[in-house]
Amino acid sequence: MVAPYTGRCNCGAVSITISAEPVATRQCWCRQCQRIAAGGPTNNAMFLAKAVTITGPRADHAYVAASGNVLTHEFCAACGTPVLGRSNARPQFRTIRLGLLDEGHGLSPAMAIWTDEAPDWAVIDPALERFTAQPPAPAPTPPSSTS
Ligand SMILES: [Zn+2]
Ligand SMILES: [Zn+2]
Repeated sequence: MVAPYTGRCNCGAVSITISAEPVATRQCWCRQCQRIAAGGPTNNAMFLAKAVTITGPRADHAYVAASGNVLTHEFCAACGTPVLGRSNARPQFRTIRLGLLDEGHGLSPAMAIWTDEAPDWAVIDPALERFTAQPPAPAPTPPSSTS
C-alpha cells in the first residue's frame, strides 16, 4: 500500500492519518519496548512528524534512554493501545506502532534493533538487517522526497 495510511486504537478514541511513506521500518527488542509489547518487540514505522495527524486523548511516559536522549511513548488514554514513540534528539520523526495501522498497510520491519536485549526464545527473521543496539539515525528526509 502507499500513503495515506490510516489507523485506530482498540477502543477507537485515537485515530491516525499519515500522508507520506516511512523513512525507516524497524523491530525494536529493547527492554522498554518489551514491556509495552507484552514481551516481544515493538514493530514500528518512522515517519516525518509533519506527515502524521493524530486525534484523540493520549497518555504518555517519558524516560532517559541509554543514549541519554529522552524517549516518550504515547498510548491511548482510554484503552492503552501503544500509539507512537518520539525522541527529543529527533523531534522531526514519529515512530508509529504498526499494530495501530489498519490492515492492508503493507509495511513490515526492515531491521531488528537492540537484539542484545531480546529474550532467549526470540526468533528474529535472519533476512532483517540486525543491530545489537541503537542503529544510525535515518536521513532527515526520505531520499525520494521532493519537499
Ligand atoms: Zn483506545
Ligand atoms: Zn525499543
